[in-house]
Order: sequence, then C-alpha cells, then structure tokens
Amino acid sequence: MRQAEHVVVVGGGLGGLAAAIRCAVAGRPTTLIEARPNVGGKLNIVRDQGFVWDIGPSLLTMPWVLDDLLRVAGSSLAAELDVVALPSACRYMWADGTRFDAMASLPALIQSIAAINPRDVGNFMRFMQYSQQLWDLSANQFLYTPMTGWQSLLDWRVLRDGWRLDGLRTMDVAVRSFFESPQLQQVMNRFATYNGSSPYRTPATFNLIAWAEFGFGAFYPRGGLYRIAEVLQATAARVGVDIRTATTVTGIHHQHGRVCGVTTSTGETIATQRVISNVDPQVTLAKLLDGGAGRAQRLARRELSTSGFVVLWGLRERYAQIDHHTICFSPDYRAEFADTDAGRLHATPTIYLNHTVDYDANHAPAGSQNVFALVNVPATRGSQIDWPNVAAGYADQMARQLETRFGLAGFRQNIVVQHILTPHDLAQRYNAPGGSIYGLASNSALSAFMRPPQRDPQIAGLYYCGGGTHPGGGIPLALLSGKHAAQLVE
Ligand SMILES: Cc1cc2nc3c(=O)[nH]c(=O)nc-3n(C[C@H](O)[C@H](O)[C@H](O)COP(=O)(O)OP(=O)(O)OC[C@H]3O[C@@H](n4cnc5c(N)ncnc54)[C@H](O)[C@@H]3O)c2cc1C
Repeated sequence: MRQAEHVVVVGGGLGGLAAAIRCAVAGRPTTLIEARPNVGGKLNIVRDQGFVWDIGPSLLTMPWVLDDLLRVAGSSLAAELDVVALPSACRYMWADGTRFDAMASLPALIQSIAAINPRDVGNFMRFMQYSQQLWDLSANQFLYTPMTGWQSLLDWRVLRDGWRLDGLRTMDVAVRSFFESPQLQQVMNRFATYNGSSPYRTPATFNLIAWAEFGFGAFYPRGGLYRIAEVLQATAARVGVDIRTATTVTGIHHQHGRVCGVTTSTGETIATQRVISNVDPQVTLAKLLDGGAGRAQRLARRELSTSGFVVLWGLRERYAQIDHHTICFSPDYRAEFADTDAGRLHATPTIYLNHTVDYDANHAPAGSQNVFALVNVPATRGSQIDWPNVAAGYADQMARQLETRFGLAGFRQNIVVQHILTPHDLAQRYNAPGGSIYGLASNSALSAFMRPPQRDPQIAGLYYCGGGTHPGGGIPLALLSGKHAAQLVE
C-alpha cells in the first residue's frame, strides 16, 4: 500500500494545531514547525511575580468547535478541560456610573436591559431573532465550508438568501433601528471589534456575532485560555504529530508549480508535497514562498483589521467592580473609531479588562488581581504612531482613566508589575501583518468573499489556515480554518 504523503504545517497557532491534528488522524505523517518556544500563537501566556495572564484571547465562544476537534482525536472537551459557562458574558460600564451586565440567564438579562430602558426589552428580543436569522443563513456557507476562491462561497442558497443577510447597511445603522438606548446601541456595536472592524463601516451581516455570544454563551476554561493550547499540543503529540518548536520555516519551495519542500532555521530541508501555512497569507507570500513577493504586494494594499494595545497589570488589591470580562466604554464611540480609522490613538479609549482570579485563585498572589487590559488601536500599516515613545504614557493614561472615570480608586498605586504589548510586538511575535489581530479588515460587504483562499491558486500542494484566511480570526474560526485546510489536503 502507498504511504500517505507527508504534510508540513508551518506555525503552531490554533489553526495550525487543528490542521496538524486532523492530518495526523487521517493517517498522514505530519510535522508541525513553530518559530516560538511554545505553541499557541496569539493565544499565549505570561507569568511574572506570582501573576499569570492570558495575553491573547480571554473569551471562548462556540466551544463545540473545539469539542469537535478533540473528538476527531478520540477525546472530548469535557474530558480535557473544565469549561465554565459564564453567568455574565460581560459587564459594561460608563463613566456616569451606568452598568449593564450581559447575564446568561434570560430573566436576569431582561432585568439588566429593563434597568437601562424598559422599552428595549422587546427590542432586544426582536434583535435576537434577527441576529439568529443572520447566523442561520450564513453559518453553513461562511463558517463551515472551506474557501478555495470567492466562487466557492457562492452557492444557490447565498444567491437566494443574499438580500436577507443585511449587507447593504452598516452594523450601527441596523443596531440603531432596533434599540432606543444609546448604551445598548454601544453594547451591540461593540461586536464589530470581535473581527477587528468598525461598527460604522462593517456590514450589518456581522450582527450575527451578537447571537454567537447572547445565544450560545460565553465560556472560560479553568486554568486559563492557554490550557487550550496545552491540550491541543498534547493531543497533537498523542496522534503522532512531530512538533518542532523554536524552529522557523525560512522558505517554502516549489518546482513546476508544485510544492517540493521547506527549509528551516536549523538548516534542514524537508521534502514534502503538502504544506499548510498557518502564517498569515500575505506574510507567507512575502517572506516564505519562492517568488511570492508580487502577490504579497497586492494583499499589502488591502485594509487590515485593528491591532491591540495590551497592558498586563499585577495589582496588590482586588477591585470587585471588575467582573471576569469588563468593558469601560469611551464617551464617544464614533469619534473613537474615527481616530482608529485615521491611524490615530484616541485619548479616552474603550478599555476591555479581564481577570481570572474568580475562577483560578492561583493566577495572582493572595488578595491580588491579574488584570489584562486591551484597547483596539490601528495596525501599524497606515499609522504613524511612535509606539516606543508613547506606549508607557498611553498605559498610564488608561490607568488614570480607570481611576478617575470608572471609580477604581488608587489603581495606579496598586500596580505591582506591568507588561506592555504594542502592535509592533504582535507583529514581531506572531508574524502578524501590521500587528493586526484578525488579518484583513471586514469593513466591506464583500470582505468575506475577498479573504485569501485556503488553497493557493498558483502553487499546487500549498494551503492556508489561521485568522488571516477564511473564515477569519477568533478561536473557533481559526480552529475551523485548520479543519478546512486539512479537508482540502484530503
Ligand atoms: C490581544 C488579543 C486578544 C484576542 N482576544 C480574543 C478573544 O477574546 N476571543 C477569541 O476568540 N479570539 C481572540 N483573539 C484572536 C485569536 O487569538 C486569534 O484569532 C487566533 O488565536 C489566531 O490563530 P491563528 O491560527 O491565526 O494563528 P496565530 O495565532 O496567528 O499563530 C501563527 C503561528 O505561526 C508562527 N509562525 C509565524 N511565522 C513562522 C515561521 N516562519 N515559521 C514557523 N512558525 C511561524 C507564529 O509564531 C505563531 O505561533 C485575540 C487575539 C489577540 C492578539
């Protein structure tokens, strides 16, 4: 019997891990090569002075995607991780003292909404119906199907139902047509940031994200999000993936239009006819694929999703006002996105906070709190922000804002340890173009069709997975992209 062809997966982010596990389970000898000392990519971890922080994702949605992957490998999510369904997906706070807890239980959620505006309870129900419909109409074609070109997403159902996908108005226009309260409008508009876009430009189709969170729930794996990477690494090893960390792929080579091998930073050349790149397609073309630079330039002209400014704070005291996930909203959301779109930093940005000590007491010394803070900022491409000179001041400005506008008294004095990650760090650590978190922006009605396809159109045997390709960024989507790439290899 002929042995199945060897597959090399470049990059051990979530997409790469998912693809490698699936290829190995399908019986292919599989090698995964990761440049960093550990796998996980943007899902990563920092430990310092008794504090532990997840430094990338902090919110798990659509956990069945992870379960499906683990089941393919003979296990399950329940067997591998203790996943908590969060009682509140997020606490939203405004400087005037208004709070909104997005409770998981419907009666509690109705109470939260009624406390903001009783008339918006019915509006919320109608919005959920609409959001669920968007999800039902698009999930199968846009999430669960591999993409080999824009035509592959256009089946008869998309043509029949396209007008119902609400792609011709923006998220914000649609949200305002449902909700009276400016606060609830801001809450629903925030879902645009889940793919790094702007609610004032992204198509209303992305209102389906609200259903993914309100309808299906928000989750936290005890031990922290990094446990997902650890479990996937152990699963990959168990199904036979040869995992090589601290090894960079320096070239992907081809002959006569077909992949023939990769070279690595250790000087090794691995002959293979199948490569799945978990590195952003633009970077793969520009830096790795022989002769890919021209095509990379065309991708480099496209708008990137936002990047992130991350501050990790170890605090000597705990602030009960900060829930597991908390958003401290900016006073003028439209102005904030206008600044980001123009490549500028906003003076009073929306600050996302996460801490994990309620579920993992050992993530901080007794009585202390591990706070991860994230502000959406422009990717470095198209922005002139002088990060080395402004980063420390911007972190201080955020801490000051938490103190003075959101009532976290003495916040700055309580900081024991601080780490900062700028868009430059994200670009450098993960080979992410411009430090963008979600690859290309989703600010146009056609963005889903214009993501780089998962099978290279010119080089046979080269496939792509990860947040930079289809269906997009975020934990579940990156995992799905790995599934699609493995399917295409088969
Ligand atoms: C600050 C932040 C917050 C986020 N919050 C959330 C959240 O709450 N929920 C959510 O679902 N998602 C969130 N995300 C998005 C999510 O983390 C990503 O979409 C997902 O992890 C991306 O996975 P990926 O498969 O694209 O791989 P990546 O994470 O991009 O990993 C690519 C891997 O390839 C490696 N690599 C690059 N070049 C080479 C080379 N030449 N040779 C070998 N290896 C190479 C890199 O080192 C990296 O490990 C967040 C991301 C960030 C940065």
